[in-house]
Amino acid sequence: MKTQIIQEIDYLQDILFSLSDSIGHNPELGMQEFQSAAKLTGLLREHGFTVEMNICGYETAFKAVYDSGKTGPTIAFFAEYDALPEIGHGCGHNMIGVMAVGAGIGLSKVLAAGRVTVWGTPAEETMGAKVAMARDGVLAEVDAAILVHPHNKTYASGVSLAMDALQFEFKGQTSHAASAPEKGINALDAVIQTFNATNALRQHVASDVRIHGIITKGGVAANVVPDHAIAQFYVRARRRKALDEVVKKVKNCAQAAALATGAELIISNYQLSYDDMNTNQKLSETFNSNLRAVGETNINPPPETFGSIDMGNVSGVVPAIHPYIGIGDETLVGHTAEMAAATFTPAAHQALLRAAKAMALSGYDVITKAGLLAEIKKEFCQSLIR
Ligand SMILES: [Zn+2]
Repeated sequence: MKTQIIQEIDYLQDILFSLSDSIGHNPELGMQEFQSAAKLTGLLREHGFTVEMNICGYETAFKAVYDSGKTGPTIAFFAEYDALPEIGHGCGHNMIGVMAVGAGIGLSKVLAAGRVTVWGTPAEETMGAKVAMARDGVLAEVDAAILVHPHNKTYASGVSLAMDALQFEFKGQTSHAASAPEKGINALDAVIQTFNATNALRQHVASDVRIHGIITKGGVAANVVPDHAIAQFYVRARRRKALDEVVKKVKNCAQAAALATGAELIISNYQLSYDDMNTNQKLSETFNSNLRAVGETNINPPPETFGSIDMGNVSGVVPAIHPYIGIGDETLVGHTAEMAAATFTPAAHQALLRAAKAMALSGYDVITKAGLLAEIKKEFCQSLIR
């Protein structure tokens, strides 16, 4: 059966390569990935999947199901297909979508029990649909979730940072900056005080904490006291619980700035919050051994520095992994034009194929290997008591 899965995916390779390239050459930003979603679901429909669009209110989200008709585990492969402004698929999400679709189709061809599902998850870079999917319970039916991301090297699934996107909006009072400064309330000063206070806070946080911000509004003319200023921050930490504590302190910095300047403060979340990635080691071992079996020679331990991913939220509700596949150039850096260009190379195409095969083979193991799913679930339950 495993040989058949590999053959089925090999048989599809030209279609998969041109699909990845086509999405790569026509990048669509998060929430606008209509063409990309249509291309991916089109191929799934051709292979007998039932497709439902508009999941959790995301127009470009989809759930594709292939049901064997017999009871058994539900395997979930996660697709992403959003691009970045100006640099297109500089995070390689064109490959992620196609790897998930290729894996889903490959596994569906030998499915004797259970279900294989492919989830189209828009806007990973901004308003991650996986957050809503995890929160709203639509993943409750899933037994094991796999997403593979392209990278400079192949890495085992590891951790990611929990992240909150905080906006501090200050409202003050305009006045002539030279002739009536005493009548003004300076909203820009409040933003600057927020930065100064968080810079002081930085000395007293754990080494995994990251705080970085920008000023998106800071006044209109130097001779007018700014009455409206906005700063946006990302605050991150290795664990959600620790992050919640740091976020309280960062908010206090902004409140102190409001008190100091007399400006009014409005705090909001300008993007969805991501949780830290909770890798299921048993599922990860299964994936790694399948990846080796299809020719990946060097699987590195998880990377030591990382950002935040919405797969973190998925990993809090179902056993999940988020490994990386090297696409041929070890000097590549994510979120660059060079990364986007690299997704079109023959080396990237071969990596895509290996990843899709390892995903499908791992799904097959979860469905057919006695005791494997029980071990995965036991580990998952234990991981929630951290
Ligand atoms: Zn990415």
